[in-house]
Amino acid sequence: MKIENLINELGIAKYFDQKKAHALFVGKQSYQGEGAGIEVNSPIDNQRMTQVASANLNQINENLASFQDAFQKLQIIPAPIRGKLVKIIGSKVQAKKNALARMITLEVGKPLSEAHGEVQEWIDICDFAVGLSRQLTGLTIATERYDHRLMEQWHPLGPVLVISAFNFPLAVWAWNAMIAFVCGDSVVWKPSLVTPLCSIAAHEIVMDSIREINKEDGGFPTSIHGLFLTGIKETKELVKNPVFPLVSATGSVEMGRDVNVNVAKRLGRSLLELGGNNALIISNFADIDLAIRAVVFSAVGTSGQRCTTLRRLIVHEAVEEEVIGRLIKAYGTLKIGHPLDEKNHMGPLINQMAYNKMVEALHLAKEQGGTIICRGERIYPEECAGGYYVTPALVKIDKDALIVKQETFVPILYVITYHDLSEAIAINNNVPQGLSSALFSTNILEVEKFMSAMGSDCGLVNINVGTSGAEIGGAFGGEKETGGGRESGSDAWKNYMRRVTSTINYSTKLPLAQGIKFEF
Ligand code: NAD
Repeated sequence: MKIENLINELGIAKYFDQKKAHALFVGKQSYQGEGAGIEVNSPIDNQRMTQVASANLNQINENLASFQDAFQKLQIIPAPIRGKLVKIIGSKVQAKKNALARMITLEVGKPLSEAHGEVQEWIDICDFAVGLSRQLTGLTIATERYDHRLMEQWHPLGPVLVISAFNFPLAVWAWNAMIAFVCGDSVVWKPSLVTPLCSIAAHEIVMDSIREINKEDGGFPTSIHGLFLTGIKETKELVKNPVFPLVSATGSVEMGRDVNVNVAKRLGRSLLELGGNNALIISNFADIDLAIRAVVFSAVGTSGQRCTTLRRLIVHEAVEEEVIGRLIKAYGTLKIGHPLDEKNHMGPLINQMAYNKMVEALHLAKEQGGTIICRGERIYPEECAGGYYVTPALVKIDKDALIVKQETFVPILYVITYHDLSEAIAINNNVPQGLSSALFSTNILEVEKFMSAMGSDCGLVNINVGTSGAEIGGAFGGEKETGGGRESGSDAWKNYMRRVTSTINYSTKLPLAQGIKFEF
């Protein structure tokens, strides 16, 4: 597939000069970057797709005020009309679903079916946000004073800075941006520089939708959205800038730590979605057929490069032999190769650095007493020369080995044995991260225990469902080093608004709270 054709299909050719992508997008204006040059290669074959001269800090700073201005205008547009904009965005995404999915596959290397799933997430969050635009409700609270009313309202917050990771180049931004728009906030997006083309395509859809809504419900400034293809040094400066009351950052724990400190120093608000180290327990009461299917998808989907990827399999000793035997068989049937070929289950790793991390982790696992059951090896599928394709690895290891405490963002699954459920829960919880977890069991006592306060300490706790593949309706996120943020569904919208508590006196007296007397 020719990248030029896809660029034309997505209507973004205008954002390229001499095959170089623009780097700074401020509403409908876009500019060639003046910062360092960045080569963008497809992980499929490691061939160059485009080049971006990144945006430098001066260029960025000169343009920040327009997002503040756009916010001032957006916040007074009624929320249901803001919802109409998101409805238009959703219909445009639907119309371009195939092209967007192919662009994800080219930039990230995930199989086309998973890429379609990611675009569907964007469509789903649009539906959710449109409904939400009529449900941004507040509270009326009982007051202790006569002839008074106590109430709580939610108002738009301001420009939101969204920093996103390479592995979900559209969905995570969409979770943030679609909700932020209905909440009345402008959005500045700093995507991973591994996936600039997806972000340009998304920005264009937002611009196209604003053009359309302004034909009937005018008043939407185009600077309610901006896109900065810029480096980490510049992003750190953005994070420190009080123009953004909220910084929503998705990526590694290392990145989150840095963002958190920089935002906290200026007493801003951060929403962090960081790394996971997810475990799935297979009990002796499990439906093993079901469990194996869930384990394989959770462990190898997106080549082990999902935040919710299954990294630790905790198996009851009575079923361990059967589970390992069936996993070896299942791994043997997996097809690995060009991610646009729909018969393949797994595409490439994102780059050589990821491959090197896989080699190193397997080496350390062995050093720490692990037994390699399936070797994760580099393979060289036809038509994909240069790409980093690997077979998924399966390693039997002790629960206390240091390597199992860290997230290695590749398809390595560590298998750990347990004797009783309390021990399995302790293993599940005994890592610094706390994103996703699962128990396969048909025993109600086990199920309830795992879901109770004494059970899994993760943000996502699944029963007879794998660790990866969340729906947008629930709040998504995790505890401990995963950062504590919640995005997407449920009441995650409250992150993007400011809460106002108001007391109204409709009497002619001035009673003080707590019965305090103050006469003069
Ligand atoms: P990364 O941390 O390298 O980069 C993520 C983003 O942060 C990029 O846009 C990057 O440019 C930016 N960044 C990096 N350092 C920064 C800093 N110091 N200050 C400001 N911005 C900075 O992550 P990645 O390799 O792109 O993605 C993989 C990681 O993301 C994994 O750890 C994965 O678990 C995590 N992730 C988490 C979720 C979630 O919802 N919890 C979702 C997707 C990915």
